[in-house]
Amino acid sequence: MVSHTSQFTHSVKPVPAEAVQAYDHETDVLVVGFGCAGAAVALEASGAGAAVTILERASGPGGSSALSGGEIYLGGGTPVQAACGFTDTARDMAAYLIGALGPDADEEKIHVYSEHSLEHFGWLAGQGVPFKESLWDSPTWVPPTDDGLMWMGEAAWPYNQQAAPAARGHRVQSEGFGGKVLMDRLVEAVSTRTDAEVHADTRALRLIVDEQGRACGVIARRFGTDYAYRARRGVVLTTGGFVDNEAMLAEHAPELVGSAKVSDSGDDGLGIVMAQAAGAAVRRMSTGQVGIQTIPGYMTRGIVVNGHGQRFINEDVYPGLVGIEALYRQGMNVWVVLDEEAFEDVPEEERWGLQPTHVAETVAELEKEMGLPENALQHTVAEYNRHAENAEDPWFRKSARWLRPLRAPFAAIDVRLGMAPPEGGSAGGNGAAVFTLGGLVTDTDGRVHDLDGGPIAGLYAAGRASSGLHGGGYISGTSLGPGTFFGRRAGLAAAGSATAGAEATGVQE
Ligand SMILES: Cc1cc2nc3c(=O)[nH]c(=O)nc-3n(C[C@H](O)[C@H](O)[C@H](O)COP(=O)(O)OP(=O)(O)OC[C@H]3O[C@@H](n4cnc5c(N)ncnc54)[C@H](O)[C@@H]3O)c2cc1C
Repeated sequence: MVSHTSQFTHSVKPVPAEAVQAYDHETDVLVVGFGCAGAAVALEASGAGAAVTILERASGPGGSSALSGGEIYLGGGTPVQAACGFTDTARDMAAYLIGALGPDADEEKIHVYSEHSLEHFGWLAGQGVPFKESLWDSPTWVPPTDDGLMWMGEAAWPYNQQAAPAARGHRVQSEGFGGKVLMDRLVEAVSTRTDAEVHADTRALRLIVDEQGRACGVIARRFGTDYAYRARRGVVLTTGGFVDNEAMLAEHAPELVGSAKVSDSGDDGLGIVMAQAAGAAVRRMSTGQVGIQTIPGYMTRGIVVNGHGQRFINEDVYPGLVGIEALYRQGMNVWVVLDEEAFEDVPEEERWGLQPTHVAETVAELEKEMGLPENALQHTVAEYNRHAENAEDPWFRKSARWLRPLRAPFAAIDVRLGMAPPEGGSAGGNGAAVFTLGGLVTDTDGRVHDLDGGPIAGLYAAGRASSGLHGGGYISGTSLGPGTFFGRRAGLAAAGSATAGAEATGVQE
């Protein structure tokens, strides 16, 4: 049987419990997927006294979490923030997230996450996750140092009107990408739990659901053989997003088709679809994180324009928000325009080798080379410069820190070429690198909800398989942070959800 909507070659419908002759394995809490969310579920569930089994399709743990930048959005006055001179409150953190992750961010989740952010920092640190107490104070995707804190656009308009700005991008200490260190520490912590076991090379295919509609296990395949797993207390799906499933993208998030994928290449959405087949609701399936493939330092020091030569955003917001505007509303027909001084001002190690695609002595020449309508860019730059002379930006209110008239010689970067090699040529794609944000509707304890708005008994989800804090926006750190935080809550809830009649039956291994 083939699932037509999602390109799976097997049926994704739940298997009725009465059709299962015997279970091959039993546990209290069955976790599907061993990325950051799965690790957090396992740690808290086993800490609450539950026997835990983690199924992982790959040969070992990690998922996209291990490849990630290790940026974790945390605030409310963490020790790292305090050491870097920031005072912060949960209320300001929540206000910023509601603005930057909107429109229509999940305010309830944001409030719970922000209010417990300090405690969650302590939990991560308690697992041995290292954070250095120093600030990287310059716009970037990933700082080239091991600094533990960075800005995520908090000082930019209009968010600086809604919340007192404080840097909240916490970074797992590492030179460059810190996701591996994060996962190493979490996996190490899981390995110390005698009541938690990991079944690798084991891919969950379908849920098992009893007569009352309660999720009570999964059918999983390991090296060609199917096994029935029984979960006495709960099944927790932490299988990641669906950016690698072309059919699901085309169906739910067509804007993301054709962009480079930011994942471990295993984000096939099966966990989401398995739960949907059992009646689960989904939310925000069209949304995505969009890494615009250019250098944030160029954008803030220059301007970003669309195919009409017009600016459309203040360039000092978190660069992912520029990406979302660029992909969803400008069709990636966007350019970074800067001058030599702006280019030179970006330190070499922050340029990632990205060179301008066009250079010219005048804006008129540049505009022509870029193929823009006559006078479009000239008008934009003239207006920008006129106000920048007074350190003002009445159009988009970019911070005075980045305002300066642009002067000859000028340069432009065609973002659609992506991070092209310095010697020329295209990186392929459309200049955007994306992953999905939509997923299963969960409450703040990770319970998966159905279309009537109530929880499906025994079924939980966390991480990118679930719909997180996001409405239309994305800030780095709001995957690893809420993924581990709501994973912990799902683990606790699942561990505590024992029901009568949960005795083991027919165990074979
Ligand atoms: C290069 C890169 C940089 C990033 N940087 C950041 C960052 O700095 N900050 C941030 O917050 N986010 C970042 N992200 C996003 C973030 O890493 C992910 O959104 C997050 O790690 C998802 O965590 P997860 O636990 O939900 O899924 P994953 O970490 O992907 O784990 C899911 C696991 O489930 C397994 N699995 C899937 N289906 C099944 C199945 N049917 N049966 C059994 N196992 C299954 C997978 O093999 C995988 O191991 C980045 C991502 C990438 C790729």
